[in-house]
Amino acid sequence: MHTKEFDIVVVGSGAGGGAVAKELAPLAAHGMKIAVLEWGPKFREADYTGREVEMANRLYFDGGGFLTKDRNMTLAFARAYGGSTVVYTGTSLVIPKETLGRWGVPGLSWDDLSRRSQKYKEENNVHLLEPDLINDNNRLFYEGCRQLGYQVEQFPLNLKGCQGSGMCNMGCPNAAKQGTHRVQLPAAEKQGVQVITRCEVKRIDMETRALEAVVHPQESVGEPSKWAPGRYQIKAKIVVVAAGAVNSPALLLRSGLGGRLPALGRYWTCHPALILVAQHDRSITNYYGHPKSYYCDEFVDPDKFLLETCMYFPFVTAKNLAGFGPEHASMMKRMDRLQMILVLALDEALAQNRVTIDHEGNPVVDYRIGDQTIDSFVASMRASAKIFFAAGARRVHAPAAKKFFIEAEEKNQIDALITRDDFKLGKVSISAAHLMGGCRMGTNAQDSVTDVWGQVHGLPWLFAADASLFPKCAQINPYLTIMALADRAAEAVRSRVGELKTQPVGV
Ligand SMILES: Cc1cc2nc3c(=O)[nH]c(=O)nc-3n(C[C@H](O)[C@H](O)[C@H](O)COP(=O)(O)OP(=O)(O)OC[C@H]3O[C@@H](n4cnc5c(N)ncnc54)[C@H](O)[C@@H]3O)c2cc1C
Repeated sequence: MHTKEFDIVVVGSGAGGGAVAKELAPLAAHGMKIAVLEWGPKFREADYTGREVEMANRLYFDGGGFLTKDRNMTLAFARAYGGSTVVYTGTSLVIPKETLGRWGVPGLSWDDLSRRSQKYKEENNVHLLEPDLINDNNRLFYEGCRQLGYQVEQFPLNLKGCQGSGMCNMGCPNAAKQGTHRVQLPAAEKQGVQVITRCEVKRIDMETRALEAVVHPQESVGEPSKWAPGRYQIKAKIVVVAAGAVNSPALLLRSGLGGRLPALGRYWTCHPALILVAQHDRSITNYYGHPKSYYCDEFVDPDKFLLETCMYFPFVTAKNLAGFGPEHASMMKRMDRLQMILVLALDEALAQNRVTIDHEGNPVVDYRIGDQTIDSFVASMRASAKIFFAAGARRVHAPAAKKFFIEAEEKNQIDALITRDDFKLGKVSISAAHLMGGCRMGTNAQDSVTDVWGQVHGLPWLFAADASLFPKCAQINPYLTIMALADRAAEAVRSRVGELKTQPVGV
């Protein structure tokens, strides 16, 4: 067993952990010992091959197919230097004022979060894509929405030198996307923060503040870890958990906090998503160009869903079509003609939806697709079919329809052809990539895990600083809000620095 000592240890290096590392870096420049422990490797440029199945296995937990306990939904979240920011699409939205009102967390103001989000927008070079870089797949969504009178907005994106490879979700092969692996982590390392990759934290001892971790051996891809493979005990004065909405609650549950914090793991939400597909009569530009330029929030009230443009790769597309045989094959053979829409259902934060751990301590996500979400999905399939046809599609595939294809001649029968009775859990491919909650912030230890600064109730040395802090779902793409919340946690940690100087490590 190797032993190490640090003043501050951050677990995880994604949107939350990367932001904390960079915000604490000036302390490292003044001599404090700060480490980020990251389970995944740091990939080299040549490791981003663009080969779908290879990259899914390289970058994502369970190859991107992490299943919920009832096996009705897959969850996508990454394991890498930079966490899920390596695979995200880079849409950069500030949380709406109404959502913060709905969260209703005393002491958390929209002014504060929007100011902090603005800082990360600047750091990450967020801007609107020039019109000539927008491909047909995105343009057709815009035109379809406008024809139907739906509100449609352009996404701000965090890019530098995008070459339109369309491979954002497999890791950008052109180093264009400005995730924490490109911006915050290198900046933190320059000032002396140590980022230790391939380092999986198993448990935190609540008495001694020592972390138990394993550094995994080098694999064929990625840079080697700075530490030799083996078991480690790492003592720290302050620990910041930023392992994401699945792994942060799991780590705290493994560390024995479940008994004292009944909300730990609970109120978990994820924007359950559908990928919908339509076919045009001609080839369209869909693969080249940034995949996600527009969104439509017309249906947030009362139907509780968002529509966004998207373009997925052959394996994911094939998996998302509900059915098989000649119709499925005919759709897959004409990938060059496909237009796609991503549906995000805005799910309720319910105590029964939660992260637990199995007998080996691995996370289990016990989440049920509720009636409201199914209603949202049915309404979203109808709305999307109308948008596809308004944009000139020849045929639409809706996973809850009476037939595999709805043809353009049938566009007046959409509401009769797509019904709730035809929505069968298990038949429809549901996935989620906006994982939120599990260490929700709030005012007391009965129904929340941390205070509004991310400090775990009753433990002034332990913080959470990632998507697990969300008390309810974000209602927009969440990464900027995660960074803003992590920024608050870093500020709270900085305010403890005076106490740290007089404190021995691990006590
Ligand atoms: C395909 C995809 C596309 C997305 N697109 C967008 C988008 O366009 N806009 C947007 O706003 N959001 C998007 N998101 C969501 C966004 O990426 C996440 O919400 C955000 O990155 C979550 O930040 P986090 O810090 O909570 O966790 P993560 O970024 O997932 O980071 C957690 C890190 O902790 C590490 N870790 C976990 N357990 C341990 C452990 N025990 N020990 C050590 N390390 C550990 C993991 O390896 C990981 O690197 C997307 C997500 C995906 C998957």
